[in-house]
Amino acid sequence: MSDATAKKEERRKFQAIRGTRDLLPPETELWNRAEQTAHEVFSTFGYGEIRLPIFEDTALFARAVGGETDIVSKEMYTFQNPTGLAAMVRENEMLGTLTEMSPESELISLRPEATASVCRAYIEHNMQQLPQPVKLYYMGPMFRRERPQKGRYRQFYQIGAEILGGTDAPGIDAEVIEMLMTFFDKVGLQGATLYINSIGHNADNCRRGYVAQLKAALEKVKDKLGSDSQRRIDTNPLRVLDSKLESEQAIIATLPHIADHLCDGCKTHYAEVKRQLEVRGVLYQENWRLVRGLDYYMRSTFEITAPGLGSQNAVCGGGRYDGLVELLGGPPTKGIGFAIGEDRLILSLQESGKGQVQQGRDIYIAWMGEKAYAAAIRAAKDLRKAGFSVELPPLEQKFGKALGQADKLGAKYALILGDNEVSEAVWTLKTLSTGEQAKFPEPDLLEFLRQQKKVSS
Ligand code: AMP
Repeated sequence: MSDATAKKEERRKFQAIRGTRDLLPPETELWNRAEQTAHEVFSTFGYGEIRLPIFEDTALFARAVGGETDIVSKEMYTFQNPTGLAAMVRENEMLGTLTEMSPESELISLRPEATASVCRAYIEHNMQQLPQPVKLYYMGPMFRRERPQKGRYRQFYQIGAEILGGTDAPGIDAEVIEMLMTFFDKVGLQGATLYINSIGHNADNCRRGYVAQLKAALEKVKDKLGSDSQRRIDTNPLRVLDSKLESEQAIIATLPHIADHLCDGCKTHYAEVKRQLEVRGVLYQENWRLVRGLDYYMRSTFEITAPGLGSQNAVCGGGRYDGLVELLGGPPTKGIGFAIGEDRLILSLQESGKGQVQQGRDIYIAWMGEKAYAAAIRAAKDLRKAGFSVELPPLEQKFGKALGQADKLGAKYALILGDNEVSEAVWTLKTLSTGEQAKFPEPDLLEFLRQQKKVSS
Protein backbone atom coordinates (compact mmCIF):
# COMPACT_ATOMS: atom_id res chain seq x y z
CA MET A 1 0.00 0.00 0.00
CA SER A 2 1.41 3.44 -0.93
CA ASP A 3 1.65 6.13 1.73
CA ALA A 4 -1.12 8.14 0.08
CA THR A 5 -3.46 5.13 -0.01
CA ALA A 6 -2.62 4.29 3.59
CA LYS A 7 -3.40 7.88 4.66
CA LYS A 8 -6.69 7.81 2.75
CA GLU A 9 -7.56 4.49 4.35
CA GLU A 10 -6.78 5.95 7.80
CA ARG A 11 -9.17 8.84 7.19
CA ARG A 12 -11.91 6.69 5.69
CA LYS A 13 -15.25 7.06 7.39
CA PHE A 14 -16.86 3.74 8.11
CA GLN A 15 -20.36 3.00 7.02
CA ALA A 16 -22.71 0.16 7.82
CA ILE A 17 -22.24 -2.66 5.32
CA ARG A 18 -24.61 -2.72 2.33
CA GLY A 19 -27.93 -4.27 3.27
CA THR A 20 -27.45 -3.60 6.99
CA ARG A 21 -28.47 -0.48 8.87
CA ASP A 22 -28.61 1.12 12.28
CA LEU A 23 -31.96 1.39 13.95
CA LEU A 24 -32.01 4.65 15.83
CA PRO A 25 -34.14 6.33 18.44
CA PRO A 26 -36.91 7.35 18.39
CA GLU A 27 -37.73 4.61 15.82
CA THR A 28 -36.37 1.93 18.14
CA GLU A 29 -39.25 2.80 20.49
CA LEU A 30 -41.56 1.47 17.81
CA TRP A 31 -39.51 -1.72 17.46
CA ASN A 32 -39.65 -2.21 21.20
CA ARG A 33 -43.39 -1.65 21.16
CA ALA A 34 -43.85 -4.29 18.45
CA GLU A 35 -41.65 -6.76 20.32
CA GLN A 36 -43.36 -6.07 23.63
CA THR A 37 -46.74 -6.66 21.97
CA ALA A 38 -45.46 -9.98 20.62
CA HIS A 39 -44.29 -11.03 24.10
CA GLU A 40 -47.68 -10.13 25.53
CA VAL A 41 -49.91 -11.63 22.83
CA PHE A 42 -47.92 -14.84 22.35
CA SER A 43 -47.79 -15.53 26.06
CA THR A 44 -51.58 -15.25 26.29
CA PHE A 45 -51.66 -18.13 23.79
CA GLY A 46 -49.30 -20.19 25.95
CA TYR A 47 -46.04 -19.69 24.03
CA GLY A 48 -42.64 -19.43 25.69
CA GLU A 49 -39.67 -17.55 24.26
CA ILE A 50 -36.68 -19.44 22.86
CA ARG A 51 -33.37 -17.62 22.30
CA LEU A 52 -31.30 -19.24 19.62
CA PRO A 53 -27.72 -18.96 18.42
CA ILE A 54 -27.07 -16.54 15.57
CA PHE A 55 -24.94 -19.12 13.74
CA GLU A 56 -25.31 -22.84 13.26
CA ASP A 57 -23.85 -25.73 11.37
CA THR A 58 -24.29 -24.93 7.66
CA ALA A 59 -25.56 -28.46 7.09
CA LEU A 60 -28.56 -27.78 9.34
CA PHE A 61 -29.82 -25.10 6.97
CA ALA A 62 -28.87 -27.09 3.89
CA ARG A 63 -31.02 -29.96 5.11
CA ALA A 64 -33.91 -28.00 6.64
CA VAL A 65 -34.31 -25.14 4.18
CA GLY A 66 -33.07 -27.17 1.20
CA GLY A 67 -29.74 -27.11 -0.63
CA GLU A 68 -31.51 -26.19 -3.88
CA THR A 69 -33.22 -23.09 -2.52
CA ASP A 70 -31.90 -19.61 -3.27
CA ILE A 71 -31.56 -19.01 0.46
CA VAL A 72 -29.08 -21.84 0.92
CA SER A 73 -27.40 -21.98 -2.47
CA LYS A 74 -26.80 -18.24 -2.92
CA GLU A 75 -27.73 -16.16 0.08
CA MET A 76 -26.13 -17.58 3.20
CA TYR A 77 -23.17 -16.01 4.95
CA THR A 78 -20.99 -19.03 5.45
CA PHE A 79 -17.61 -19.27 7.14
CA GLN A 80 -14.95 -21.81 7.72
CA ASN A 81 -15.16 -22.45 11.44
CA PRO A 82 -11.97 -20.94 12.83
CA THR A 83 -11.90 -23.25 15.83
CA GLY A 84 -11.77 -26.41 13.74
CA LEU A 85 -10.65 -29.76 14.99
CA ALA A 86 -6.95 -29.05 14.62
CA ALA A 87 -7.21 -25.88 16.71
CA MET A 88 -9.13 -27.77 19.37
CA VAL A 89 -6.60 -30.55 19.53
CA ARG A 90 -3.83 -27.99 20.04
CA GLU A 91 -5.84 -26.22 22.70
CA ASN A 92 -6.56 -29.44 24.54
CA GLU A 93 -2.94 -30.54 24.36
CA MET A 94 -1.91 -27.26 25.83
CA LEU A 95 -4.38 -27.65 28.63
CA GLY A 96 -3.23 -31.23 29.09
CA THR A 97 -6.82 -32.45 29.17
CA LEU A 98 -7.93 -35.82 27.95
CA THR A 99 -11.57 -34.91 27.49
CA GLU A 100 -13.30 -36.43 24.54
CA MET A 101 -13.78 -33.90 21.80
CA SER A 102 -16.99 -33.52 19.87
CA PRO A 103 -16.31 -33.27 16.15
CA GLU A 104 -16.59 -29.59 15.29
CA SER A 105 -18.49 -28.66 12.21
CA GLU A 106 -16.26 -27.20 9.54
CA LEU A 107 -18.71 -24.75 8.05
CA ILE A 108 -20.94 -22.43 9.96
CA SER A 109 -23.55 -20.01 8.63
CA LEU A 110 -25.32 -16.97 9.97
CA ARG A 111 -28.92 -18.06 10.30
CA PRO A 112 -31.07 -17.13 7.30
CA GLU A 113 -34.23 -18.12 9.23
CA ALA A 114 -35.01 -19.73 12.56
CA THR A 115 -37.39 -22.66 12.04
CA ALA A 116 -34.46 -25.03 11.45
CA SER A 117 -32.85 -23.91 14.72
CA VAL A 118 -36.08 -24.31 16.67
CA CYS A 119 -36.47 -27.87 15.36
CA ARG A 120 -32.81 -28.60 16.14
CA ALA A 121 -33.34 -27.33 19.68
CA TYR A 122 -36.54 -29.39 20.05
CA ILE A 123 -34.58 -32.53 19.20
CA GLU A 124 -31.43 -31.59 21.12
CA HIS A 125 -33.34 -30.92 24.34
CA ASN A 126 -35.66 -33.92 24.02
CA MET A 127 -38.65 -31.65 24.05
CA GLN A 128 -40.81 -34.50 22.77
CA GLN A 129 -40.82 -35.64 26.40
CA LEU A 130 -42.53 -32.43 27.51
CA PRO A 131 -46.31 -32.09 27.44
CA GLN A 132 -47.17 -31.68 23.73
CA PRO A 133 -47.46 -29.54 21.78
CA VAL A 134 -44.47 -27.36 22.62
CA LYS A 135 -45.19 -23.74 21.70
CA LEU A 136 -42.17 -21.52 21.15
CA TYR A 137 -41.56 -18.05 19.79
CA TYR A 138 -38.41 -16.13 18.94
CA MET A 139 -37.30 -12.77 17.67
CA GLY A 140 -34.03 -11.49 16.30
CA PRO A 141 -31.86 -10.85 13.26
CA MET A 142 -31.61 -13.13 10.22
CA PHE A 143 -29.08 -12.86 7.40
CA ARG A 144 -29.52 -13.35 3.66
CA ARG A 145 -27.31 -11.98 0.91
CA GLU A 146 -30.23 -10.63 -1.15
CA ARG A 147 -30.27 -7.59 -3.39
CA PRO A 148 -31.08 -4.76 -0.95
CA GLN A 149 -34.13 -2.59 -1.65
CA LYS A 150 -37.01 -1.08 0.30
CA GLY A 151 -38.22 -3.76 2.72
CA ARG A 152 -35.41 -6.12 1.80
CA TYR A 153 -32.18 -6.15 3.77
CA ARG A 154 -29.25 -8.45 4.30
CA GLN A 155 -29.65 -8.26 8.04
CA PHE A 156 -33.33 -8.21 8.77
CA TYR A 157 -35.45 -9.08 11.76
CA GLN A 158 -38.08 -11.71 12.26
CA ILE A 159 -40.56 -12.46 14.99
CA GLY A 160 -41.71 -16.04 14.65
CA ALA A 161 -43.48 -18.86 16.42
CA GLU A 162 -43.59 -22.63 16.06
CA ILE A 163 -45.83 -25.33 17.51
CA LEU A 164 -44.16 -28.71 17.63
CA GLY A 165 -45.57 -32.08 18.61
CA GLY A 166 -49.08 -33.16 19.47
CA THR A 167 -51.72 -33.25 16.79
CA ASP A 168 -52.21 -31.71 13.38
CA ALA A 169 -55.85 -30.89 14.21
CA PRO A 170 -57.08 -27.96 12.08
CA GLY A 171 -57.75 -26.06 15.32
CA ILE A 172 -53.98 -25.71 15.74
CA ASP A 173 -53.56 -24.15 12.29
CA ALA A 174 -56.50 -21.82 12.87
CA GLU A 175 -55.28 -20.79 16.31
CA VAL A 176 -51.76 -19.99 15.08
CA ILE A 177 -53.29 -17.71 12.45
CA GLU A 178 -55.70 -16.21 14.99
CA MET A 179 -52.74 -15.39 17.24
CA LEU A 180 -50.93 -13.75 14.37
CA MET A 181 -53.89 -11.59 13.42
CA THR A 182 -54.44 -10.68 17.10
CA PHE A 183 -50.83 -9.53 17.22
CA PHE A 184 -51.14 -7.44 14.04
CA ASP A 185 -54.35 -5.92 15.31
CA LYS A 186 -52.88 -5.04 18.70
CA VAL A 187 -49.74 -3.56 17.20
CA GLY A 188 -51.92 -1.32 14.99
CA LEU A 189 -51.19 -2.74 11.53
CA GLN A 190 -53.93 -1.59 9.17
CA GLY A 191 -55.10 -3.12 5.93
CA ALA A 192 -53.39 -6.49 6.43
CA THR A 193 -54.71 -9.25 4.16
CA LEU A 194 -54.44 -12.89 5.08
CA TYR A 195 -54.05 -15.37 2.21
CA ILE A 196 -54.34 -19.09 2.81
CA ASN A 197 -53.98 -22.26 0.80
CA SER A 198 -53.55 -26.00 1.26
CA ILE A 199 -50.75 -27.70 -0.61
CA GLY A 200 -51.81 -31.23 0.35
CA HIS A 201 -49.26 -33.74 1.50
CA ASN A 202 -46.48 -35.53 -0.20
CA ALA A 203 -48.28 -38.74 -1.12
CA ASP A 204 -48.89 -40.31 -4.54
CA ASN A 205 -52.50 -39.33 -4.93
CA CYS A 206 -52.21 -35.87 -3.40
CA ARG A 207 -49.42 -33.35 -4.00
CA ARG A 208 -47.16 -35.71 -5.89
CA GLY A 209 -49.93 -36.35 -8.40
CA TYR A 210 -50.52 -32.62 -8.69
CA VAL A 211 -46.85 -31.83 -9.20
CA ALA A 212 -46.68 -34.40 -12.02
CA GLN A 213 -49.66 -32.73 -13.75
CA LEU A 214 -48.25 -29.28 -13.16
CA LYS A 215 -44.95 -30.34 -14.67
CA ALA A 216 -46.67 -31.74 -17.73
CA ALA A 217 -48.69 -28.52 -18.15
CA LEU A 218 -45.52 -26.42 -17.76
CA GLU A 219 -43.65 -28.47 -20.36
CA LYS A 220 -46.34 -27.52 -22.87
CA VAL A 221 -45.80 -23.78 -22.30
CA LYS A 222 -42.08 -23.96 -21.60
CA ASP A 223 -40.96 -21.74 -24.47
CA LYS A 224 -43.23 -18.92 -23.25
CA LEU A 225 -41.64 -18.89 -19.78
CA GLY A 226 -38.59 -17.01 -18.55
CA SER A 227 -35.32 -18.79 -17.87
CA ASP A 228 -35.87 -19.08 -14.07
CA SER A 229 -39.24 -20.75 -14.53
CA GLN A 230 -37.90 -22.97 -17.28
CA ARG A 231 -35.22 -24.24 -14.93
CA ARG A 232 -37.75 -24.76 -12.15
CA ILE A 233 -39.89 -27.08 -14.27
CA ASP A 234 -37.26 -29.69 -13.49
CA THR A 235 -35.91 -28.60 -10.13
CA ASN A 236 -39.07 -27.39 -8.36
CA PRO A 237 -42.20 -26.86 -10.49
CA LEU A 238 -44.27 -25.55 -7.57
CA ARG A 239 -41.97 -22.53 -7.34
CA VAL A 240 -43.10 -21.40 -10.82
CA LEU A 241 -46.37 -20.41 -9.15
CA ASP A 242 -44.41 -17.88 -7.04
CA SER A 243 -43.27 -16.03 -10.15
CA LYS A 244 -43.88 -12.29 -10.15
CA LEU A 245 -42.81 -11.88 -13.82
CA GLU A 246 -45.51 -9.89 -15.60
CA SER A 247 -45.10 -11.86 -18.82
CA GLU A 248 -45.79 -15.17 -17.06
CA GLN A 249 -48.95 -14.22 -15.18
CA ALA A 250 -51.46 -15.05 -17.94
CA ILE A 251 -49.79 -18.42 -18.51
CA ILE A 252 -49.75 -19.30 -14.83
CA ALA A 253 -53.46 -18.51 -14.60
CA THR A 254 -54.16 -21.43 -16.93
CA LEU A 255 -52.22 -24.03 -14.89
CA PRO A 256 -53.98 -26.74 -12.87
CA HIS A 257 -54.95 -25.88 -9.27
CA ILE A 258 -53.87 -28.01 -6.34
CA ALA A 259 -57.34 -27.79 -4.75
CA ASP A 260 -58.59 -30.16 -7.47
CA HIS A 261 -56.01 -32.77 -6.46
CA LEU A 262 -56.18 -32.83 -2.68
CA CYS A 263 -56.84 -36.24 -1.14
CA ASP A 264 -59.92 -36.57 1.09
CA GLY A 265 -57.87 -36.14 4.29
CA CYS A 266 -56.27 -32.91 3.09
CA LYS A 267 -59.56 -31.60 1.68
CA THR A 268 -61.32 -32.13 5.01
CA HIS A 269 -58.41 -30.61 6.92
CA TYR A 270 -58.44 -27.49 4.73
CA ALA A 271 -62.21 -27.09 4.93
CA GLU A 272 -62.03 -27.35 8.72
CA VAL A 273 -59.19 -24.79 8.97
CA LYS A 274 -61.35 -22.35 6.97
CA ARG A 275 -64.41 -23.07 9.10
CA GLN A 276 -62.43 -22.55 12.28
CA LEU A 277 -61.02 -19.27 11.02
CA GLU A 278 -64.59 -18.15 10.45
CA VAL A 279 -65.60 -19.24 13.97
CA ARG A 280 -62.68 -17.15 15.28
CA GLY A 281 -63.76 -14.13 13.22
CA VAL A 282 -60.55 -14.18 11.13
CA LEU A 283 -61.06 -12.87 7.58
CA TYR A 284 -59.07 -14.61 4.84
CA GLN A 285 -58.70 -14.89 1.11
CA GLU A 286 -57.74 -18.06 -0.68
CA ASN A 287 -54.75 -17.96 -2.99
CA TRP A 288 -54.08 -21.18 -4.89
CA ARG A 289 -50.61 -19.95 -5.90
CA LEU A 290 -49.35 -19.80 -2.34
CA VAL A 291 -46.96 -22.73 -2.22
CA ARG A 292 -43.84 -23.86 -0.45
CA GLY A 293 -41.38 -25.71 -2.58
CA LEU A 294 -40.07 -28.17 -0.01
CA ASP A 295 -41.33 -31.70 0.47
CA TYR A 296 -41.92 -31.53 4.17
CA TYR A 297 -44.29 -28.56 3.87
CA MET A 298 -47.84 -29.79 3.81
CA ARG A 299 -51.44 -28.72 4.04
CA SER A 300 -51.82 -25.18 5.42
CA THR A 301 -49.74 -22.37 4.00
CA PHE A 302 -50.43 -18.71 4.65
CA GLU A 303 -49.09 -15.27 3.96
CA ILE A 304 -50.03 -11.81 5.13
CA THR A 305 -49.52 -8.70 3.08
CA ALA A 306 -49.68 -5.11 4.26
CA PRO A 307 -50.01 -1.77 2.46
CA GLY A 308 -47.27 0.81 1.98
CA LEU A 309 -44.50 -1.65 1.15
CA GLY A 310 -44.27 -1.60 -2.64
CA SER A 311 -43.26 -4.90 -4.21
CA GLN A 312 -41.96 -6.42 -0.95
CA ASN A 313 -45.41 -6.45 0.63
CA ALA A 314 -45.39 -9.78 2.50
CA VAL A 315 -45.11 -9.14 6.22
CA CYS A 316 -45.47 -12.75 7.25
CA GLY A 317 -45.19 -16.24 5.83
CA GLY A 318 -46.02 -19.53 7.45
CA GLY A 319 -47.13 -23.08 7.07
CA ARG A 320 -47.36 -26.62 8.32
CA TYR A 321 -44.20 -28.74 8.12
CA ASP A 322 -44.96 -32.13 9.66
CA GLY A 323 -41.88 -33.83 8.22
CA LEU A 324 -39.17 -31.39 9.27
CA VAL A 325 -38.20 -32.61 12.74
CA GLU A 326 -37.89 -36.15 11.40
CA LEU A 327 -35.79 -34.91 8.49
CA LEU A 328 -33.40 -33.43 11.06
CA GLY A 329 -33.05 -36.76 12.86
CA GLY A 330 -35.83 -36.41 15.43
CA PRO A 331 -38.98 -38.46 15.99
CA PRO A 332 -42.01 -37.98 13.68
CA THR A 333 -43.40 -34.67 14.90
CA LYS A 334 -46.18 -32.39 13.74
CA GLY A 335 -45.16 -28.79 13.21
CA ILE A 336 -46.53 -25.46 12.09
CA GLY A 337 -45.18 -21.94 12.35
CA PHE A 338 -44.74 -18.50 10.89
CA ALA A 339 -42.21 -15.71 10.62
CA ILE A 340 -43.13 -12.03 10.61
CA GLY A 341 -40.77 -9.64 8.85
CA GLU A 342 -40.34 -7.02 11.55
CA ASP A 343 -38.63 -4.46 9.27
CA ARG A 344 -41.62 -4.51 6.95
CA LEU A 345 -44.09 -4.43 9.81
CA ILE A 346 -42.43 -1.27 11.13
CA LEU A 347 -42.33 0.28 7.64
CA SER A 348 -46.02 -0.37 7.15
CA LEU A 349 -46.86 1.10 10.57
CA GLN A 350 -44.87 4.21 9.70
CA GLU A 351 -46.48 4.54 6.27
CA SER A 352 -49.96 4.36 7.78
CA GLY A 353 -49.17 6.99 10.41
CA LYS A 354 -49.32 4.39 13.18
CA GLY A 355 -45.62 4.65 13.77
CA GLN A 356 -45.63 7.73 15.95
CA VAL A 357 -43.61 7.34 19.04
CA GLN A 358 -43.47 9.53 22.07
CA GLN A 359 -40.22 11.34 21.62
CA GLY A 360 -39.85 13.94 24.31
CA ARG A 361 -38.92 13.85 27.96
CA ASP A 362 -41.60 14.35 30.56
CA ILE A 363 -39.63 16.85 32.59
CA TYR A 364 -36.62 19.08 32.01
CA ILE A 365 -35.10 20.40 35.20
CA ALA A 366 -33.84 23.96 34.79
CA TRP A 367 -31.63 24.73 37.75
CA MET A 368 -29.35 27.59 38.77
CA GLY A 369 -27.00 27.59 41.76
CA GLU A 370 -25.21 24.90 43.78
CA LYS A 371 -28.05 24.42 46.26
CA ALA A 372 -30.54 24.18 43.44
CA TYR A 373 -28.39 21.52 41.75
CA ALA A 374 -28.51 19.35 44.88
CA ALA A 375 -32.30 19.76 45.02
CA ALA A 376 -32.49 19.02 41.28
CA ILE A 377 -30.53 15.77 41.69
CA ARG A 378 -32.92 14.72 44.46
CA ALA A 379 -35.97 15.70 42.40
CA ALA A 380 -34.66 13.79 39.36
CA LYS A 381 -34.17 10.69 41.48
CA ASP A 382 -37.71 10.82 42.90
CA LEU A 383 -39.31 11.61 39.55
CA ARG A 384 -37.44 8.82 37.75
CA LYS A 385 -38.40 6.41 40.51
CA ALA A 386 -42.01 7.37 39.86
CA GLY A 387 -41.52 6.47 36.17
CA PHE A 388 -41.06 9.91 34.62
CA SER A 389 -38.44 10.54 31.97
CA VAL A 390 -36.26 13.35 33.28
CA GLU A 391 -33.50 15.42 31.71
CA LEU A 392 -31.13 16.90 34.25
CA PRO A 393 -28.53 19.15 32.59
CA PRO A 394 -25.06 18.62 34.09
CA LEU A 395 -24.07 22.27 33.77
CA GLU A 396 -25.76 25.39 35.02
CA GLN A 397 -27.65 27.31 32.35
CA LYS A 398 -29.49 30.62 32.34
CA PHE A 399 -33.21 29.90 32.64
CA GLY A 400 -33.94 31.25 29.18
CA LYS A 401 -31.44 28.90 27.57
CA ALA A 402 -32.63 25.98 29.70
CA LEU A 403 -36.23 26.52 28.66
CA GLY A 404 -35.19 26.66 25.00
CA GLN A 405 -33.34 23.39 25.44
CA ALA A 406 -36.41 21.84 27.14
CA ASP A 407 -38.50 22.88 24.14
CA LYS A 408 -36.04 21.37 21.68
CA LEU A 409 -36.13 18.07 23.53
CA GLY A 410 -39.91 18.07 23.39
CA ALA A 411 -40.28 18.10 27.18
CA LYS A 412 -43.79 18.47 28.56
CA TYR A 413 -42.76 20.36 31.67
CA ALA A 414 -39.86 22.37 32.91
CA LEU A 415 -39.20 22.22 36.61
CA ILE A 416 -37.58 25.50 37.59
CA LEU A 417 -35.25 25.45 40.56
CA GLY A 418 -33.42 28.60 41.57
CA ASP A 419 -32.30 30.07 44.88
CA ASN A 420 -35.80 31.33 45.68
CA GLU A 421 -37.43 27.99 45.03
CA VAL A 422 -34.92 26.18 47.21
CA SER A 423 -35.06 28.60 50.12
CA GLU A 424 -38.90 28.72 50.09
CA ALA A 425 -39.22 24.97 49.33
CA VAL A 426 -41.82 25.91 46.72
CA TRP A 427 -41.03 24.75 43.24
CA THR A 428 -42.11 26.18 39.92
CA LEU A 429 -43.49 23.98 37.17
CA LYS A 430 -43.95 25.33 33.67
CA THR A 431 -46.18 23.53 31.17
CA LEU A 432 -44.27 24.08 27.96
CA SER A 433 -47.18 23.70 25.53
CA THR A 434 -49.23 26.47 27.18
CA GLY A 435 -46.57 28.50 28.95
CA GLU A 436 -48.58 28.24 32.20
CA GLN A 437 -46.59 28.35 35.40
CA ALA A 438 -47.64 27.05 38.81
CA LYS A 439 -45.95 26.85 42.21
CA PHE A 440 -46.05 23.71 44.35
CA PRO A 441 -44.62 22.76 47.73
CA GLU A 442 -42.17 19.96 47.03
CA PRO A 443 -44.36 16.96 48.08
CA ASP A 444 -47.38 18.25 46.17
CA LEU A 445 -45.43 18.52 42.94
CA LEU A 446 -44.89 14.81 42.56
CA GLU A 447 -48.52 14.14 43.35
CA PHE A 448 -49.63 16.70 40.75
CA LEU A 449 -47.43 15.13 38.08
CA ARG A 450 -48.65 11.66 38.97
CA GLN A 451 -52.25 12.79 38.54
CA GLN A 452 -51.45 14.40 35.19
CA LYS A 453 -49.82 11.19 34.00
CA LYS A 454 -52.91 9.19 34.97
CA VAL A 455 -55.16 11.58 33.04
CA SER A 456 -53.02 11.42 29.88
CA SER A 457 -52.52 7.62 29.86
P1 AMP B 1 -39.49 -16.33 4.89
O1 AMP B 1 -38.61 -16.75 6.04
O2 AMP B 1 -38.74 -16.20 3.60
O3 AMP B 1 -40.75 -17.13 4.79
O4 AMP B 1 -39.94 -14.85 5.21
C1 AMP B 1 -40.85 -14.50 6.22
C2 AMP B 1 -40.99 -13.00 6.26
O5 AMP B 1 -39.72 -12.42 6.58
C3 AMP B 1 -41.35 -12.39 4.92
O6 AMP B 1 -42.75 -12.36 4.75
C4 AMP B 1 -40.78 -10.99 5.04
O7 AMP B 1 -41.68 -10.16 5.73
C5 AMP B 1 -39.56 -11.20 5.91
N1 AMP B 1 -38.32 -11.22 5.11
C6 AMP B 1 -37.78 -12.25 4.41
N2 AMP B 1 -36.62 -11.89 3.81
C7 AMP B 1 -36.41 -10.59 4.12
C8 AMP B 1 -35.39 -9.62 3.83
N3 AMP B 1 -34.31 -9.93 3.09
N4 AMP B 1 -35.52 -8.37 4.32
C9 AMP B 1 -36.58 -8.02 5.08
N5 AMP B 1 -37.57 -8.89 5.41
C10 AMP B 1 -37.49 -10.16 4.95
